Amino acid sequence: MFNIKFINPSRRDLLKQLVAFGAMGAAGGVITSQAQTRDTSFVQRGDEQYNALRSSSLWRSNIPQRYPDIIVEATEIDDLSNALEFAKENDLQVVCRASGHSTAGAPLRNGGMMIHVNRMNKVTINENARTATVEPGVTMAGLFGAASQYGLDFPTADCSSVALTGFILGGGFGRNCMHLVGGPVCNALLSADVILATGELVTVNENSHVDLFWAMRGCGPAFFGIVTSMTLQLFDPPGAYFASTYRYSFDELPALVEFLDNHSARQDPRVSSRISIQPNPNNHADSIAQVRLTAFADPGPPAENQALELLAYYADAGLSENAFEKNEFEELQLGTYMMTTDPAAGTHTDNVFTDDTSSILAASHLMQSRPEGFSIHLDIGHNHQYYPSTGDNNAYSAAGRHFLTTYIDWTDTTPERNALAYEWADRFAEVASQYGEGNYLNQVDTGLYPERIRQSFSTESWEKLGQVRQQYDPDNRFFSYVKENA
Ligand SMILES: Cc1cc2nc3c(=O)[nH]c(=O)nc-3n(C[C@H](O)[C@H](O)[C@H](O)COP(=O)(O)OP(=O)(O)OC[C@H]3O[C@@H](n4cnc5c(N)ncnc54)[C@H](O)[C@@H]3O)c2cc1C
Repeated sequence: MFNIKFINPSRRDLLKQLVAFGAMGAAGGVITSQAQTRDTSFVQRGDEQYNALRSSSLWRSNIPQRYPDIIVEATEIDDLSNALEFAKENDLQVVCRASGHSTAGAPLRNGGMMIHVNRMNKVTINENARTATVEPGVTMAGLFGAASQYGLDFPTADCSSVALTGFILGGGFGRNCMHLVGGPVCNALLSADVILATGELVTVNENSHVDLFWAMRGCGPAFFGIVTSMTLQLFDPPGAYFASTYRYSFDELPALVEFLDNHSARQDPRVSSRISIQPNPNNHADSIAQVRLTAFADPGPPAENQALELLAYYADAGLSENAFEKNEFEELQLGTYMMTTDPAAGTHTDNVFTDDTSSILAASHLMQSRPEGFSIHLDIGHNHQYYPSTGDNNAYSAAGRHFLTTYIDWTDTTPERNALAYEWADRFAEVASQYGEGNYLNQVDTGLYPERIRQSFSTESWEKLGQVRQQYDPDNRFFSYVKENA
């Protein structure tokens, strides 16, 4: 282990008090620093609290067998500075954890220091500037709730408990983002405050630390600094939000893909279309194909008509013809967009961008042989040039005509059941490797599939990312991408 250099004998009383309050295990530690105004407590391996804290670090129960040396729970910026200083003194690598939704389990590493920032969750809305400044632990629900009090909106993820920090760092696919920001949601990041590896707190935006700002917008779960706050552009909420859903037998899939392909060039960015391959509720061995269209109209009085017209385009073109069930033109409330997931369940997700339509059929056929007792879905996002790269403005650089995502959820998380889930996941990964042209890195288990890290970036972005990392973190103080499946 390492020496705890910052434990100051004069702080022993404080430590005893913390233990008495049950705030720390008997072997917990306190980081004191001359430079800061407060002490910061931490938990280390072997402490009473360590196991609970470690296993709640990820938002799922199937967590990798990786064990950080130290876990810090930050509540203020000073905690972040103290923790980084301590890590440097003790030569520990550092990673931050916001809401722990990373598919790779990126905040959970072997050795080093994990800093939980989820308690730093203040949102400040600037109504005139139409911006929100969020601390690093703020979740989708936190921002949505605060912005809507001012009649403003943000293109959130579809899960209320996901934190904005990891979402933005990875690019961020959010509601209506093609229309609002012309690509991934990181385009709505205006500015951020970041503690660098040197310990300096800097503001990062289009005019200051420009390359670091570029990296923040899409580098994925391996940022080389500590984000202490982000300022985000807010938007008017859509004037209306409508959806149409059509269900078909599985063998209609090729025709559906062809239909959406033929219409994708004319697809309005306010409409998102998605084919989901789902279990047939009446026969587990079989699957059905569901097409869901969602339309977000511009604000203003003709909104309802506009949303209906956007959806009617597809109905008029014959999308509903072979559906065995349809639910058209359903008005929805914005608050219902987000769901919550069960952190006690096992989950796995994977994805691939591809221009090759045969990939859809290959992946869909896997659905016909999914193991029983698992909820396995395959979604095919069908926008033309789904979430395109926006050139030089950000590190995010994956795109493709089709975006295939698979989700596996299971409740019995014994090692045998986990292994079965990962076996199926490997078969999807094989399809991805055959047809893939890139991935959305935020939702890839890079411990299982480390080759996908490089594949998530263009050559230019990847090379530049390496240079910017070297410039800002030459000693590798911050953990890079997860590449181990321990
Ligand atoms: C149920 C579910 C639904 C999802 N839905 C969507 C969706 O609709 N759209 C979408 O785009 N994505 C979605 N995701 C993926 C999600 O965007 C990523 O998993 C994202 O990384 C989660 O962010 P987080 O803040 O929880 O990251 P964490 O898992 O907490 O951390 C991931 C990485 O972010 C970095 N990080 C976190 N905090 C800081 C900080 N303060 N400073 C520096 N670096 C930091 C670290 O490198 C860390 O390893 C979903 C995930 C789940 C589990």
